[in-house]
Amino acid sequence: MSPSKIICVGRNYADHARELGNEIPVAPLIFLKPPSSVIASGDAIVLPRASQRVEYEGEIGVVIGTRAYRVDESRAATCVRGVVAVNDVTARDLQKADGQWTRAKGFDTFCPLGAEGAAPKTLDELEVITRLNGMERQRATATQMVFSVPRLIAYISSIMTLFPGDVIATGTPAGVGALVPGDVVEVEITGTSRVTNPVRAED
Ligand code: ZN
Repeated sequence: MSPSKIICVGRNYADHARELGNEIPVAPLIFLKPPSSVIASGDAIVLPRASQRVEYEGEIGVVIGTRAYRVDESRAATCVRGVVAVNDVTARDLQKADGQWTRAKGFDTFCPLGAEGAAPKTLDELEVITRLNGMERQRATATQMVFSVPRLIAYISSIMTLFPGDVIATGTPAGVGALVPGDVVEVEITGTSRVTNPVRAED
């Protein structure tokens, strides 16, 4: 996949906001990952020397199907073309050090994306599961989001035009944790999309 942009949502599950000691935002908290961070299933996540603490974040990704600007929330679901498993890989130490998140979230290989699957009839049915070395670490459904997918599309499209193929990573639930060389991490949107990646240190 080659989205023109990847728009991510921070702290969109109350339990994850709490586990990192953060308040639940009053409006969606958004940031971007660069298209250069995208890798496919099977490609390695490379841990940069600049960070001592890189973590996985399994997320439900929605793929935009139509050019969208200032879309009303009631019509926003019609803009969704498909669903994709996303791993919003994050250098947690650099995120804390920098205050803004471009470096922590933007390294090459920090955005594994699964193959695109069909969107379900009801977006609330979406479920994300993260497994680290075969052990389940995260599981949540879209009903647990602070801001729903239609609300996110309405909010983001009030700021920037969304293009076909753009990906919205809708936030990670509780259970984030560190990646070390030799790990294999998998994010699955149940029955729809899956991305599995080995982890290695930078050469
Ligand atoms: Zn995230």
